[in-house]
Formats: sequence, structure tokens, C-alpha cells
Amino acid sequence: MPIDFTLNDNQQRLRREARQFAKDVLSGVPVATRDLPSPIERFVATRPFYERLVAEGFLRKCIPVSVGGDCAGLVDLAILAEEFYTVDVNVSLTMLSTVLGLAPLVVGGKPEQHQRFLPPFLAAKGAPLAAFASTEPGGSANAGSLPPGEGVRTTARRFGDSWVISGRKQWISAATGWNGQGADLLTVVCRTDANVEPSRGISIIAVPRPDSGLIFEHAFDMLGHRAHLTPRFRLDAVQVPAGNLLGQEGGGLQLAAESFAGSGALVGIFGVALMRAAFQFALSFAKSEKRGGIQQIIQHQAVGYALADAKTTIEAARVLSWHACRALDTAAPGALELAIHSKVFGSEAAVRVITNLMQVVGVDSYGHELPLAGLLQDAMLLPLFAGGNIGVRRRQLHALMLDPAYDDLATLDGICLAETVP
Ligand SMILES: Cc1cc2nc3c(=O)[nH]c(=O)nc-3n(C[C@H](O)[C@H](O)[C@H](O)COP(=O)(O)OP(=O)(O)OC[C@H]3O[C@@H](n4cnc5c(N)ncnc54)[C@H](O)[C@@H]3O)c2cc1C
Repeated sequence: MPIDFTLNDNQQRLRREARQFAKDVLSGVPVATRDLPSPIERFVATRPFYERLVAEGFLRKCIPVSVGGDCAGLVDLAILAEEFYTVDVNVSLTMLSTVLGLAPLVVGGKPEQHQRFLPPFLAAKGAPLAAFASTEPGGSANAGSLPPGEGVRTTARRFGDSWVISGRKQWISAATGWNGQGADLLTVVCRTDANVEPSRGISIIAVPRPDSGLIFEHAFDMLGHRAHLTPRFRLDAVQVPAGNLLGQEGGGLQLAAESFAGSGALVGIFGVALMRAAFQFALSFAKSEKRGGIQQIIQHQAVGYALADAKTTIEAARVLSWHACRALDTAAPGALELAIHSKVFGSEAAVRVITNLMQVVGVDSYGHELPLAGLLQDAMLLPLFAGGNIGVRRRQLHALMLDPAYDDLATLDGICLAETVP
């Protein structure tokens, strides 16, 4: 089959439904949250929107068919994410970080664990939250560091049939839940053996909301994503059954990397979504405003070219992200590298393109009365999270290229091979 991004009937329906839901429902999030003074109040105010999203089956549409959800693959997730993120980043990120929280369970969990933990997320009711808890106070860029580096500081000690987990985490999306007592499920990166190297001593453990021991400490008041919650919290001797360990004991770093692969490709799509929202506004502004002159400002060559450059970048970033998603869906060689390129390119392009579009609109773009300032604030997150682009370049791209077996053509030849699979 040739390279072809034709969407099938299901994907076209998904895009239609997601676009409609975003327009009808998610567009209300900024209005409902804008004037609330604290991050917790803003986050709590998003709950009715999240409940609607869950009730209409959109969370199920993000959970793979293989474990009982309705998601046929990452390309579908990218289609859905673009429509939602264009309209509201806050509830969209709460939904997608719940999906990331479930990823170690989906990727590394046993069928028995799927049956135990997934039903609330598949039920299409309530406001279930999951979170992937890796980042810690003091930084997590060097989670795999050998001593004397601290690496992962949160510990899980085995006592009989239980793990007892202690440590602190921060910047974890929605981790303390709607009421500060914990998300429905945390997947916690922790050190299960301090005496071996990190590649054998770190694990991921599923932690359903505990009766005690999860202590909320602080909610970050963020530059953008103003109604999304990223708390700091403590796990104080939280006890869970030994059977909550996901994947292999000691295989946590590898499982985290596998769980994260898709999120790189999706961050590229978040960038596309924010650029799309900015472009739509700037285009309509340029077509309607004369700014005291004789003709609409789009008639000026500099303005026209700036808009054209923005659109070129949007198209390139979307295709790269879809290409990465498709490669991951078909397990093509080179898929991980494509996902990282999507993350780095889409995230940095979003900051650059929105800044350029602000120049098209001019000084009025600097006030919050127009949407571009807020979109730039939201876009600034993209190079910083999901690993941070310095870390992603270093730990992933640079490491790949240092490998003597690195094949720079895998991203090309690999996808061609995968396309021949029926
Ligand atoms: C809105 C939002 C949501 C988030 N959601 C989650 C979540 O759900 N779960 C989660 O676990 N985390 C989450 N995070 C955290 C996020 O994923 C971070 O990107 C991640 O923790 C890595 O941060 P960092 O690279 O800045 O690491 P840090 O350890 O803080 O490093 C800071 C900086 O130090 C430098 N540095 C450190 N080590 C090296 C080195 N060896 N070589 C070169 N430079 C180095 C780099 O410049 C790096 O940027 C979220 C963050 C935000 C803002």
C-alpha cells in the first residue's frame, strides 16, 4: 500500500464527533475557570466537563481495544487529541494524562490486573482519574543515574505480601484527585531494590487511592494549562498488595520508556492543535482588520508570508506526528525515533509559530482579551514536559545515535516494510 493518510470511516466519525463535542462542551471550560483564583478551584471547576467527556465515551475511546476500550490505535488518539486540544487544553490534558497513568498497566499488566483496575475507566460514568507518578522534588531527569546520583528516591519495601511505598512526587497530572485524597489509580515509579543498578532496581506499582498515607502538599500555579492540576504530594508508608507490581520487578525504567513512547507522538499533535487555534484566529484577524490603512492586513506581503509559513509548519508537524503514531501502531523499526522527532519538532514549532502569529496580529495580541497570549502560555509547556526536550534529545535521540547499531534509514525503510503488512 502506498503512503496514505486516508482516514477510514471510523476515524472520520471520530473526528466529527470529537470536533462537535469540543465546540459544544469543551469551549465552556475557559469561561468556567478563568476568574477562579487558585489552581485547585480551577481544576475542580473542570469536573462537570470531564464527566460529560467520560459519559459520552471519549475516555473509552482512548483506551486500547486489546484491554476492553474503544481505541483502535495511536492515529485515532491523535485525531481525537487534536480536536480537543485545539479548543481546551485543560480537560484534554486531564483525560490524556489519565490514559498515560493507565499505560504501564495496559503495557505491562497481567490480565488479572487489567480486570482489577480498569473497569472504572471503561464504565463511561463518573470522573475517574489515573496518573503516572514519576517526577520527584529535586528533579527526575537522571532517574537512571548510578550512585552517587540519587536517581529515583521513592522507595517500595517488601513486607510479606505487601509493598510499602514512601517518597514524594510532584508535577503529577491530577494525581491527588478531585478532593486531594488521591486519583483513583496511581502508577508509581519507585525503587524496589537499592542494591542493584537502576535498570534492575526500579519498578512501577499500581496504587489505588489509599485510605491513608497520601498527603497533598502543594498545587503549582502554572503559566498555562491554568485549569489542569499538577500537585506535589507525599506517599507515607502507603501499603498495597504485592500483586500490584506491574511488569517485571526491577523492569520499571524499561516499562516507563515503553509507556511513554506514544506520548511523544501525541505531544507533537498538542503543538499542532495550539498552532491551529492560533492560525485560525490570526487568519481571520488579518482578513478582517485594516488597522487604520486602506486594505486588509493580509494583503501586505509580510503578513501573507508569515501566515503561509505558519500553515506550512502546521501541516508538516501533523504529518510527522501521524507518521510516528502509525509507525508505533505497526511496531515499525524506527517508530521510537519518529515519536521523539514529533515531540521535539511539534513542541518547539508551536512556541515559535504562535510567537510569529502574535507579530501578525500585533500589540493587541499581548492582552488576554484575544486568545494568542493564552495559547503561547499553553504552548510553552510542550518543550518542558513529557521528559523535557533537553532530556529527550539527550536520553533518547543522542543515545540512539550513539548506539553502534543505529540505522538512520530505519525511519524510512522500517515504515515501508510495515506498510506492506496487511
Ligand atoms: C503540566 C505538566 C504535567 C506533568 N505531568 C506529569 C505526570 O503526569 N507525571 C510525571 O511523572 N511528570 C509530569 N510532569 C513533569 C514533566 O514530565 C517533566 O518534563 C519531567 O519531570 C522532566 O523534567 P526535567 O527534564 O525538567 O527534569 P529536571 O530533573 O527537573 O531537570 C531540569 C533541567 O536540568 C538539566 N539537566 C538535568 N540533568 C541533565 C543531564 N544529565 N544532561 C543535561 N542536562 C541536564 C536540563 O536542562 C533539564 O531541563 C508534568 C509537568 C507539567 C508542567
